[in-house]
Amino acid sequence: MTDDSEKHEKDHIFLCCHCGNVVMQQPIFRYDANLVFEEIDHHECREPYTFVAYKCSTCTGLTLTGSFDMYLEKAVSSLRPILYPLGPFFDPKDHTVSPRDPVPKSVTRLYGQAWPLRYRAPAAFANQVLRTLELICADQRAVGNALHEQLQDLE
Ligand SMILES: [Zn+2]
Repeated sequence: MTDDSEKHEKDHIFLCCHCGNVVMQQPIFRYDANLVFEEIDHHECREPYTFVAYKCSTCTGLTLTGSFDMYLEKAVSSLRPILYPLGPFFDPKDHTVSPRDPVPKSVTRLYGQAWPLRYRAPAAFANQVLRTLELICADQRAVGNALHEQLQDLE
């Protein structure tokens, strides 16, 4: 661990998707790979890809990050995208399921805000999940007066 990006990674404080705390994550393992970036006419174009594993200082849960190094050059943070566990980041990177049927940002934002509550305040988390479901039903124009009726309408 000698280059500048590793110095930044030593001091990472981010949301632990195991315990829900925003705490110091200690880098414990780094693996530099050369992965296929794209394939054109059966020709593989490989680029440097780095995996970094962190250990949570609170719960010792393992978080795996990784990305192609070229993406880190323009990024503001030296933190690579989280590969495991995904926690509240359940949606695809561009917040879309398909170009025709995007997940509304209000839904992903609310779920992302509620997710850390699941251990600290389970009742509050459950309440926020209900609000998330209401947003989904509103987005899909589900018919019904109560949430359970709207959910049945979506089936
Ligand atoms: Zn943790």
